[in-house]
This record gives sequence, structure tokens and C-alpha cells, in this order.
Amino acid sequence: MIAVAKPKVLVIEDEPDILEVIQYNLEREGHKVIACRNGEQGLSRIRTDNPDLVILDLMLPGMDGVEVCRQVKSDPVTRSIPLIMVTAKGEESDIVLGLGIGADDYITKPFSPRELVARVKVVLRRGPLREQSGGGERVVRGALSIDLGRHEARIDEKMLSLTPTEMRLLHFLASHPGRVFPRAHLLSRVIGEDAIVTDRNIDVHVRALRQKLGEHANCLETVRGVGYRFAEATK
Ligand code: CA
Repeated sequence: MIAVAKPKVLVIEDEPDILEVIQYNLEREGHKVIACRNGEQGLSRIRTDNPDLVILDLMLPGMDGVEVCRQVKSDPVTRSIPLIMVTAKGEESDIVLGLGIGADDYITKPFSPRELVARVKVVLRRGPLREQSGGGERVVRGALSIDLGRHEARIDEKMLSLTPTEMRLLHFLASHPGRVFPRAHLLSRVIGEDAIVTDRNIDVHVRALRQKLGEHANCLETVRGVGYRFAEATK
């Protein structure tokens, strides 16, 4: 019998009932759960226990979730640990803020245990977010392949005619399937901070890209009030 290490999920949630529901459902799925009731404790356990995933409630007494996320994602030791933040329903500004400072995904309250478990599985399967430097220049998703170094994008074998910005945008999104990026984040990643542009500028590039992708256009998903993501599964 081979012993497989259980994925370690660290949960930071101050409401005992919700914490219990999360813990129960994740343990039933075979995860090891580290339960933390506040941000300070959570942050120190993240540093000592090196979890595979963090589930972080944004509304916490004392150090709030945004600050915890900021600290996790600014520390080179912990920044690659995937983090799902939990927000109140309808708090789009929180979602945008959280994703902007590096959260990998979000879930809104109230959520069903099944939804949470599904989300956890997706993020764990995706693994730690790797920085794109060297190596990962070529990305293949279904019929679509993008080679940034050679400035070539193809669907099946058909070459797409993309501008450099469209190429970087598509490559960046396709490198992180399923992950939502706010417009402002995409702007700074693919266009550059010095460009005089507005958030809507990204919409223009996405529209042009979708046109060029034709029947594969639905791989670029709009997440209302937040930004864009590359679809998790492509046909
Ligand atoms: Ca809370």
C-alpha cells in the first residue's frame, strides 16, 4: 500500500459554524484541515505549516482577509500557495481587490459544501502558480497553441494573425486557466504600467481576440464586474 500525502488545507474563518462546515466537508474528502479563527493566527500557521491551499474569509476581526492575502502574496516563501478568498455575496469591489493582490480564486457566501469542495479540487489540481519566466513560453490548450517566443498562435494548424498585445494577453490568460484576472491586473501585465489606457482598453483587446478566435472565442470568459478568465476546459 502506498501512502499518499493528504492535501493540507488551511482555513481562516472567524464564524465557528461556517468553519465547522468547511472542515467537515473537506475532511470527508480526505483533506487535512488546519482551522484558524483569525488572521494573525492564520498567517503564522501558513508560514509554519506550508499548506497546499488557503481558504481565507475576507471579513475577520483584527487583521482582515485583505491584509492576510497581501502578506501571503508578497512573501516569496508563501506567495505560490494557492489562496481562495471567501467574500460576502455582491461585494464585487472586494473580489476585484482580492484578485488584484494575488488571490487565486474566490467563492461568495452563502456557498454549498459541494461548490466549495469542487472549487478546492480545481485549485489543488492547478497547483502552485508559477511565475512565467523562461521555459513556459509555449502554452497549449485544446486546439489552441501559443508560442510567445516565436510570436505564433495557432488553432489546430491554422495561424492566427495577432497583434503583440493580443498575443501577450491570450498567452497570459491561457497560462492560468480558470483563474480570474481583474482588468487593471491584465493591463499592467500585458500592456505595461506606463501606457495611458483605461480599464476598458482591455475590453477592446478581448473583443478583437474573440473575433480572431472565431468558434473558439468562448475560451475567453467575461466575469461580470471583475474581469476575464480563460475557460477551465476547452473543447
Ligand atoms: Ca467572517
